Amino acid sequence: QDFYAKKFNELSNVGGDIRRMFMLGQNLLQENPEADLIDLSLGNPDLEPPEIVKKSIKKLLEDDQQGEHRYMDFAGLPEVRKYIAQELSQSEIAQISQDTVYLTVGAAGGIQILLRIFLEQDDEAIIFAPYFPEYIPYILNYNAKPITVKCDENHEPNLDDLQIKISDKTKVILMNSPNNPSGVLYSKETVKKIVKILEERKTKTGQCIQLISDEPYSRIVFKNKHVPSILENYKYSWLIRSFSKDIGLAGERIGYIAWSEDKSKLGAINALRNSGRVLGFVGAPRLMQRILPHVFNARVDVNLYEQRVNKFIGILAEGGIKTVHPSAGFFVFPKSPIQDDRMFCEGLVAKGVLCVPGSGFGCSGYFRASLTQPIEKIEEAARRISLYTKEI
Ligand code: PLP
Repeated sequence: QDFYAKKFNELSNVGGDIRRMFMLGQNLLQENPEADLIDLSLGNPDLEPPEIVKKSIKKLLEDDQQGEHRYMDFAGLPEVRKYIAQELSQSEIAQISQDTVYLTVGAAGGIQILLRIFLEQDDEAIIFAPYFPEYIPYILNYNAKPITVKCDENHEPNLDDLQIKISDKTKVILMNSPNNPSGVLYSKETVKKIVKILEERKTKTGQCIQLISDEPYSRIVFKNKHVPSILENYKYSWLIRSFSKDIGLAGERIGYIAWSEDKSKLGAINALRNSGRVLGFVGAPRLMQRILPHVFNARVDVNLYEQRVNKFIGILAEGGIKTVHPSAGFFVFPKSPIQDDRMFCEGLVAKGVLCVPGSGFGCSGYFRASLTQPIEKIEEAARRISLYTKEI
């Protein structure tokens, strides 16, 4: 333990639930390599990137000019930033230019770079539970404090609790909609109410709270769903997206930060360049940047995710397990049949299903299933969960 820095050891222990479930599964497989285990614990998207992605990579390599693999502007290739700015200006209904788009190593890299320019010792960063567990170490990295705001039974932020939790030390709100683990999309009304709270605070006290919207699932929303634009609604907001889920490029590590043009944020691109440099990112993978104008509007088959979600929660509902219907992605967050969600998920391992307790996402009494398996396995897992529920 002494070999590594104390802070490193502390942060390594955060987010232990996913790892613990994974290890329980590994132990079971070690004892019985033939065990029929359905792993719904890890959120590794299984749908292959659309054909255009591979074609674009091949074509770009064939047409390579000299110098195409060198260092570049840390913010990313200007022509790619310009392309994304044009797309986002329309979709987000905001003024976005090549100088307000910064390419990142996935959404995770974007969050790191952005938090670093705002957070310092003892600052507070608000997150809504259930939350992506990595937010906690990301915030602690900068010696700031994560402050958790509750959600209601529909997994939408509880705005009374938000009012209570905002303090003089609040620097940022880091929100995630559509959400991991719940798949819930915060409504336009909720977003507007959050913005109103922040604007009133600014008018009353002068305190300027940054709203960071982490949206890796916003382009895999289900039929008839629409993600409200954060940039249209709040001056001090920052959009973070990636291509990990919508075009299935999680391993290729490409995403971006975008914000709207405004005097108050002049210089942000240079701040981010410095932040990315000091964190050692230097820039986002250049070949992946180059494919973006060719694949930006491609998608994995979102219908498949929607079918899996409907099937899974339908079978659970027949077994008496309630789930708030997700609006996007491949995660579901059903209610645990017993209050002790850790005990429930541990018992489930013996029945051949790996899920993650809601406690790992700051929300006990639930469990998360990642539906990144073929539909037959998902149906089978749901049946096993229902059967197990009847036994306990
Ligand atoms: N934010 C949330 C809410 C996520 O669920 C994930 C990945 O699972 C990330 C960020 C990181 O995504 P990326 O692969 O784009 O870095």
